[in-house]
Amino acid sequence: MTFNDLNIIPAILKALSKENYTAPTPIQEQAIPAVLAGRDLLGCAQTGTGKTAAFAVPIIQLLSEKQGKPSTQRRIRSLILTPTRELALQISENIQAYSQYTHLRCSAIVGGVSQKAQERALNQGADIIIATPGRLIDLMNQKHVDLQHVQILVLDEADRMLDMGFIHDVKKIITKMPSKRQTLFFSATMPPEISQMVKAILVNPVKVEITPVSSTVDRIQQSIYLVDKVNKQKQLNLLLQDKSIISALVFTRTKHGADRVVKELTKVGISAQAIHGNKSQNARQNALSNFRSGVTRVLVATDIAARGIDIEELSHVINFDLPNIPETYVHRIGRTGRAGMSGIAISFCDIEELPYRKDIEKLIKKTIPEVKDHPYPMVGTAQPLLAEKSTATVVSKPAKSKANPALKPKSEWFKKRNTTNSKSNFNPNGKTNGKTNVKTNSKISH
Ligand code: AMP
Repeated sequence: MTFNDLNIIPAILKALSKENYTAPTPIQEQAIPAVLAGRDLLGCAQTGTGKTAAFAVPIIQLLSEKQGKPSTQRRIRSLILTPTRELALQISENIQAYSQYTHLRCSAIVGGVSQKAQERALNQGADIIIATPGRLIDLMNQKHVDLQHVQILVLDEADRMLDMGFIHDVKKIITKMPSKRQTLFFSATMPPEISQMVKAILVNPVKVEITPVSSTVDRIQQSIYLVDKVNKQKQLNLLLQDKSIISALVFTRTKHGADRVVKELTKVGISAQAIHGNKSQNARQNALSNFRSGVTRVLVATDIAARGIDIEELSHVINFDLPNIPETYVHRIGRTGRAGMSGIAISFCDIEELPYRKDIEKLIKKTIPEVKDHPYPMVGTAQPLLAEKSTATVVSKPAKSKANPALKPKSEWFKKRNTTNSKSNFNPNGKTNGKTNVKTNSKISH
């Protein structure tokens, strides 16, 4: 199928061809005709499936076909609500690209930057607004935004808006627009609150489900390293010695953790920047554009900040911390292997994260292959050692001294690698390692 088969107007076809989109993705094939026919839509689709164009293209077409004379005042005829600023800006960029040969205007309304420019854009008039709920409500309260003429509403990543506590704002925004409208609703997961909302606001929707969240994209090569928390940074530094990792998006659980990883990478000469909620919007945009252009090799992000990050040709996603919500793992690794490309997802898992690994594997219905032969094997576990020494006590926190036993295996690993080049005969639970990590008294400490 081609875009021509979807009855798309020449102005948009020209823009899509400029973007080098040759054929519609499955979600585009299904969603575009339904939206053009005026139907409500319920889209269950992962990021990376081309869902932005799936809703943006028909919206642009419907609005430009109904566009009044140039002299008539522009009114907001479509509102797209998204959970994060990055996602809003990304969608706005896409819509600008797809609508460049039409007379439509779109504008992003996001927090974290001065509202003056956004007020100006609203006063000049926009046909399509892409907004995060908080800033939109502020501007609505100040009477800069009138939603009375909205014909098409898009709720993108609705489950994430729920997670982020925006759902009340979203419901409030919906009350300010006409009830007779077309609604397009996207959510990767369907928790009960989202299902209720779907029932309340969609009328006889067309359902489009692409790649359920539990099935990770097959072309992404996944692997996991069992490694103690104290050694994760060293493991990361070591991995990034591999120059074939052109670009890596590294996920940490906390903002502080993201800053720490950046600091440590910078120390060893690896260019890295962080993107998280404590950074100003400008700093986040700057980090993103440096990463996109290859100025920085590593972008370290928290989950929320990473929502909406769209980077073409991202080769690696690295989970420095394993997420406790299994769906988040699927979202994270979906940042690579986009639009038909292959990708690599590497995860670090410490002893406390072992249950998360189990949950993830249950969700994706496959075992993530474990890399066993590496210099920082997890020593905070009981596993084979306990079986050998029945009186052993496992210490889950390796000593912090210079003689940190967790470091010992590294030299051994390199020695082995240099001499025997063997992958299988190194026992990470060897004598040196065992001695320092296993107390021989009889109490088990946790
Ligand atoms: P999305 O799921 O909307 O975030 O899109 C994922 C990526 O696929 C973005 O980089 C889009 O520019 C790209 N993309 C979307 N539709 C197509 C298409 N039909 N052909 C090629 N690339 C596409």
